[in-house]
Amino acid sequence: MNILFTASECVPFVKTGGLADVVGSLAPVLAKQGHDVRVMLPMYSAIPQDWQAKMQFVLHFDVQLGWRRQYCGVMMLKKDGVTYYFLDNKYYFGRPYIYGLGGDEYERYGFFCRAVLNALPLLPFHPDVLHAHDWQSGMVPALLKIQYTHLPFYANIKSIFTIHNLQYQGIFGIKEVQDVLGLGDGLWSGDKLECYGCANFMKAGLVYSDAISTVSPSYAEEITTAYYGERLDGLIRTRRDSLYGVLNGIDTDEYNPEHDPLIYKPFSLQKLAGKAENKRRLQEELGLTVDAGTPLIAMVGRLTNQKGLDLVDSVLGEMMNEKMQLVVLGMGDARYTNLFSWAEGQYHGQMAARFAMDTVLAHKLYAGADFFLMPSLFEPCGLSQLIAMRYGTIPIVRETGGLRDTVLSYNEFSKDGNGFTFLNYNAHDMLVVIQRALYYYEKDKAVLASLQKRGMEGDYSWAHSARDYLDIYQKLLEHV
Ligand code: ADP
Repeated sequence: MNILFTASECVPFVKTGGLADVVGSLAPVLAKQGHDVRVMLPMYSAIPQDWQAKMQFVLHFDVQLGWRRQYCGVMMLKKDGVTYYFLDNKYYFGRPYIYGLGGDEYERYGFFCRAVLNALPLLPFHPDVLHAHDWQSGMVPALLKIQYTHLPFYANIKSIFTIHNLQYQGIFGIKEVQDVLGLGDGLWSGDKLECYGCANFMKAGLVYSDAISTVSPSYAEEITTAYYGERLDGLIRTRRDSLYGVLNGIDTDEYNPEHDPLIYKPFSLQKLAGKAENKRRLQEELGLTVDAGTPLIAMVGRLTNQKGLDLVDSVLGEMMNEKMQLVVLGMGDARYTNLFSWAEGQYHGQMAARFAMDTVLAHKLYAGADFFLMPSLFEPCGLSQLIAMRYGTIPIVRETGGLRDTVLSYNEFSKDGNGFTFLNYNAHDMLVVIQRALYYYEKDKAVLASLQKRGMEGDYSWAHSARDYLDIYQKLLEHV
């Protein structure tokens, strides 16, 4: 099968969150199974020089955006059986940020989506399936259906759109998007591109792709409800028959405590002593009191409301009254950077916070912590809890989306489980569950050892999910 991914980020080139992990680890898995997988990405100047140096110039063409004609270069790099194309325009992507600041996101990603489709006939590759990820690629399936399928080259290309996070939709003025993409007035009704008076790239992807998927079965259910649907639940309900929930995996080579060069000391289920060494060194590095007997709880992720940080805010004082340490690594809203920098000073030796995108420290936290806290308000899949379990760090999570699908709460009667969970979005429900975990740490380490073992033995590879995606692709191709 010829499969084309389009996305705005992809490891190891550019990453702000889980989307990059998913694109960058799913593509090689599909390629390994014999499929021709290619990935199209924007050529950001933020891509590390080492990678840029390995790219090869392929060709260039002009992209018509309203009255403007914009240069688009295509750079190429092959890695792990996957061909990556980087669509280059310095004006749009040669900026010191990836998202947001310029106020012209509709034009940047409008350019990207248009360029993806226009590049295809120029390259020696004809996709059977076009797999677009998140809103930045949402216009690809829409433009394909609206403006390209009458051309023989595009006529049989099937499209699938994956929602990695429904909260970010790419909402802009209709006039601006019309100006850039030349979409006529007849297309701006509620059943097509218009969305509450605006243009919405995510909606465009949802309306016009042949299939829709999201990154866990629970989130697929949840987004059909008003609570989780981000005002698109009505549309998603109408497309329920084409909606799939496919759980993400992680790159089990990158996240492997036995061979991870980024952590202080490798370890495995059989040789867990190394984990204790990781904890000790982490406490040292972060200025925490070095004490093997104090449970260390870590949080890694974007500092936004989605991640349940207002719950932590509400009960931080009560958490700090417990015998525990807390480490937070993330970037995001000032509300939380202020809170956690204050807390670091207030609870010196018990609390540490770092506000950076720091992969090395993230690995050290997954390896060195005892527990991983993720009390998300919503969570499409969540990779961090999977990574934590692989490093023998026990997750404490809210039962939502992919967290619900991957973390099973400890049941003291059946002895099942691989973590601790709570259901309601309530700070004291979270606190009680943290206290439950701390209780076992103090009184019954054997319970924690059983949870840890189950976590470390879990299969978080892409094997199942890759098969699920291939099944969906196959179904689309059979449905002429
Ligand atoms: P989301 O996609 O909502 O941001 P996920 O849990 O799906 O959350 O994926 C987050 C990924 O980004 C994980 O691999 C996590 O380790 C990583 N990550 C998030 N914030 C940071 C940070 N500040 N430094 C390093 N890695 C981070």
